[in-house]
Amino acid sequence: MEITFFGGRVGRKDSGRRLTARGRPDTFPHMHLRSAHPWVSFGLLYILSNTVLMSDPLPHNEPSAPAEDCAPTGETETPACALPSHVQIAEDGLRVTRTEAEWRARLTPEQFHVAREHGTEPAFRNAYWNNKEPGLFRCVGCDAPLFSSEDKYDSGTGWPSFSRPLDERLVGKQTDRSYGRVRTEVHCAVCGSHQGHVFPDGPRPSGLRYCINSASLRFEAMDASAIPAALAEWTATLDANR
Ligand SMILES: [Zn+2]
Repeated sequence: MEITFFGGRVGRKDSGRRLTARGRPDTFPHMHLRSAHPWVSFGLLYILSNTVLMSDPLPHNEPSAPAEDCAPTGETETPACALPSHVQIAEDGLRVTRTEAEWRARLTPEQFHVAREHGTEPAFRNAYWNNKEPGLFRCVGCDAPLFSSEDKYDSGTGWPSFSRPLDERLVGKQTDRSYGRVRTEVHCAVCGSHQGHVFPDGPRPSGLRYCINSASLRFEAMDASAIPAALAEWTATLDANR
């Protein structure tokens, strides 16, 4: 048996049963193409492939992931720091707190989005990814000296990358399970501003890569030898206001 279907001929291996006028067979799974025009096969494959590609692999309660990945050059399997963070940072214990109006007055819209809404910025299109000057990277939210140029290295990701924080006490971490990944979120322990994530693929001796958003940082150029004193001064000021 043969019928015309989209201009081609569609038949069935067990041709004892009839197809309806709409092409719906009595026993659909056994229908196959035979002697059909090549464009008919192509058309059906096109429809099927689009049906598969258009299905959403992510749960619908999570935003879809940006295309960029933050894997260092040569790496193939690394969690992405291009993805925003979805953790709750407890305000209890933070030394610096501000109202939303105060945050918006202090920060630019991009800084507010990244630091206060746990957003992210594009790779290679941010202020400090390629900054090689000596100096201090302070938290944009409270000026805490979080990272040093001495620990900054080129990870090839397009984001500022550090092998360690300047002072572990100034950096908070939280497990981030968004997007079906397990990542470690990094934020300022003084004001709670989101900084980025830390991954276990950094250089020795720490083996860590702090993948940080430029929008969460404010760079202060200074000689590397002056950085320890700047850290001590800031810590003393914080302790004095305790
Ligand atoms: Zn801060």
